[in-house]
Amino acid sequence: MDLTIQELSKTYPNGVKALDRVSLTIPLGMFGLLGPNGAGKSTLMRTIATLQAADSGSIQLGDIDVLREKEEVRKLLGYLPQDFGVYPRISAHDMLDHLALLKGFTHTGERKALVEDLLHRVNLYSVRKKALAGFSGGMRQRFGIAQALIGNPRLLIVDEPTAGLDPGERNRFYNLLSEVGENVIVILSTHIVQDVMELCTRMAIIHEGRVLFDGAPDQAVASLEGKIWQRTIAKADIKQYEQSHRVISSKLIAGRPLIHVFSPDHPGDGFEPAHADLEDVFFARIANL
Ligand code: ADP
Repeated sequence: MDLTIQELSKTYPNGVKALDRVSLTIPLGMFGLLGPNGAGKSTLMRTIATLQAADSGSIQLGDIDVLREKEEVRKLLGYLPQDFGVYPRISAHDMLDHLALLKGFTHTGERKALVEDLLHRVNLYSVRKKALAGFSGGMRQRFGIAQALIGNPRLLIVDEPTAGLDPGERNRFYNLLSEVGENVIVILSTHIVQDVMELCTRMAIIHEGRVLFDGAPDQAVASLEGKIWQRTIAKADIKQYEQSHRVISSKLIAGRPLIHVFSPDHPGDGFEPAHADLEDVFFARIANL
């Protein structure tokens, strides 16, 4: 079962074109949707999740017409929105139990087993009696995954799940997501290149509502091989290099900027070839290089 998006467009009433003829085919497994803030990721996620309408285009999940057969989609969907909203004083266990009931798990024994299984899977069993209001960012996101997994979804959408997590929490979250299963379509939207590098076999880069790349991360990286060069420079010279070269990233290494530039030919003195990484791809595509 694939998710096929064709020519999907959406302009908000204020004139912002959030999606501009987006076409993507998303297979089983982890799919990364990478784009800067404002690219249109949440609009796309919410449209796939049947929470908002598009102006034109189509989305097909297997045999289901997503934009029309909303109830059918919702039976197969798990969704972790960008902002999960209020975190009430009730415990993780009770909240999950309540959400499972809303999803139609009316048999008490069955629901109890489901909730306990989910709490174990996301490693929150030991804190199940604590109020969600007191959870850390990482614990909240793991709770968010638990609620999204109620009912064994075939399509799991997670919108910017690692924003605000510290590195340890992010790792735990990566491990959890990668365990979710190979027989599910997982769409992970993020502006963090590392999320896609670590987790996804397929990806798209989206910017200003348009798809700029669609394929495998290593294929994206290969397309830049031989065109990325690096050198360490003095901090004061950054502006000058930005004017003379196509600088696509700058990182501080031991206090000095290491710049990556895009150039089909050797860019001159002091530059050495660099291995392109996904970060280079991301910035190069967005800069339209
Ligand atoms: P992302 O998730 O990649 O940050 P969004 O889909 O949230 O991007 O937003 C895409 C663009 O649409 C942005 O310019 C944003 O300001 C605009 N936008 C999003 N939601 C609305 C809305 N409800 N009304 C008007 N503009 C919106």
